[in-house]
Amino acid sequence: MMMNQGRIVKVSGPLVVAENMRDSNMLDVVHVSDKKLIGEILEIHEDRASIQVYEETSGLGPGEIVVSTREPLSVELGPGLIENIFDGIQRPLDSMRIQTGDNITRGIHINALDRTKKWPFKPVVKAGDKVRAGDIIGTVQENEVFEHRILVPVGIEGTIESIREGEFTVDSVVAEVKGEDGKSYGLTLMQKWPVRKERPYKEKLAPTEPLITGQRIIDTLFPIAAGGVAAIPGPFGSGKTVVQHQLAKWAEADLVVYIGCGERGNEMTDVLREFPELKDPKTGKSLMKRTVLIANTSDMPVAAREASIYTGITIAEYFRDMGYTVALMADSTSRWAEALREMSGRLEEMPGEEGYPAYLSSRLAQFYERAGKVKTLGSDERTGAISAIGAVSPPGGDLSEPVTQATLRIVKVFWGLDYNLSYRRHFPAINWLTSYSLYEDRLSDWYRVNVSRDWNKYRGDMMRILQEEAGLQEIVQLVGVDALSPTDRVTLEAARSIREDYLQQNAFNEIDTYSSLEKQFGMLKIILAFYYKGQEAIKKGVNINDLFSMPVREKIARLKYVPEEEIKETFEKVEEELSVQIEALINKGE
Ligand code: ADP
Repeated sequence: MMMNQGRIVKVSGPLVVAENMRDSNMLDVVHVSDKKLIGEILEIHEDRASIQVYEETSGLGPGEIVVSTREPLSVELGPGLIENIFDGIQRPLDSMRIQTGDNITRGIHINALDRTKKWPFKPVVKAGDKVRAGDIIGTVQENEVFEHRILVPVGIEGTIESIREGEFTVDSVVAEVKGEDGKSYGLTLMQKWPVRKERPYKEKLAPTEPLITGQRIIDTLFPIAAGGVAAIPGPFGSGKTVVQHQLAKWAEADLVVYIGCGERGNEMTDVLREFPELKDPKTGKSLMKRTVLIANTSDMPVAAREASIYTGITIAEYFRDMGYTVALMADSTSRWAEALREMSGRLEEMPGEEGYPAYLSSRLAQFYERAGKVKTLGSDERTGAISAIGAVSPPGGDLSEPVTQATLRIVKVFWGLDYNLSYRRHFPAINWLTSYSLYEDRLSDWYRVNVSRDWNKYRGDMMRILQEEAGLQEIVQLVGVDALSPTDRVTLEAARSIREDYLQQNAFNEIDTYSSLEKQFGMLKIILAFYYKGQEAIKKGVNINDLFSMPVREKIARLKYVPEEEIKETFEKVEEELSVQIEALINKGE
């Protein structure tokens, strides 16, 4: 069929308006001008289409052609995703650079997945087997670390007629399925999916297990569930990058999808430089071996940022559907929202708060709703999860601005990075007074069963001591520490120990960088024992300075540096010493 060609009538930055587009549909991908710039139809009124163009539009003018591909913006899903770096519309940055040099040429059409590379495919089903959407037909060992599971695409159900083992490119047919509908389908290692549409699953499951991160303040005080959603604000220099790297390295996820929407060019360059250098502590190899990076470089216009979070979450869903746990990070969703605002402005929509469109909240919600733990499609019982962590960058750190507010209404965890803490070099600079986790109740059973019956009590006591400290510090500022009762002074001292010996965690120390839950619990128990026993001792008349200067306290401060394999023995010793030294003080007084 010969398509009608549209004609540009107006160009306004990333927005192009074209006429004679009656045959096209909303969300169709179009090629703009004979340079074939990639765009997507946002709106269509009669025969006029408003198109968001993902490439620089300078030099375009009225009269140039616009052709619809009649397909929605889609991503390619298959072997080759891992270890790759894509732009917001899934063009592989390295292959593009090889073709065009450092400055990305406009209108370049390049396959997301390499069509020449061959992958070793091992079938796990045989001719005659019945399969349906989501079933695994075989695997591809993509690298030393990652096994790619090849799924029957959505919409196909039938009987395997033939299946081959061997080395294949992503677009060669590896299996034939005779559909229930009588048609034959050739399955390839690769499939496509429109990014703005959530990939289907059987059932969403309640998040009841934590995503263990090995970061004490997160796991103990503000846990995120596996399949949960969290937000982290990122005032410059507050340690956001380090937190993200720590999560990428240590969170119990099979894969990491990192979506970078940097504003300044160098922000993205940093990510592109730093991420590939991260070592995966589990394998000793590069973390990239289980990572997909989506990067909006500064030479891409804002519109590509808008698309990038959908590209990223669709890729994450695909891995989830294989039965994997994915940690997805979007940095920063504020930059994404700014792109939305800019497009909305150009579309001359009614602006909402601070110029953001009224649909800002619903778009954000749609994005975060695609996270979660699910029972995947397919005949077997498989679960997969996406935990999504979105960074926000509120201008001037003002959390009352619309993007942060909209985000906080959706996410269940907030890790409030605090510039003042990072200035005092308290890292990770997550403010324990402003942060929260709404999963805490849901997860408390899990911690009770899997870590200790006392976990929730200890956690509660720790939070209470920190809150009491905040109140006491106000008094201290007014009247000085000497005005406090000895009991209050023990509380202050315990709070200091919690902050310095527990919450502070050095990402760059080989041992401190990760704490198992067992270690976290052990540390908590001893630090709180100082508090409980200290309060007792004070009541029995022990001198407060003697209590504070017990030699064991030095050892408590160093618990974090005890290697995992030594914690049982060492922690028992320290606990014992603490008891003995406090007893001695009490006996001395009596
Ligand atoms: P941001 O991304 O917010 O600008 P970074 O994550 O780059 O800030 O952190 C700035 C600096 O703070 C780091 O270079 C490092 O020296 C220090 N830092 C941040 N987090 C930690 C941590 N958990 N442990 C030790 N140092 C940290």
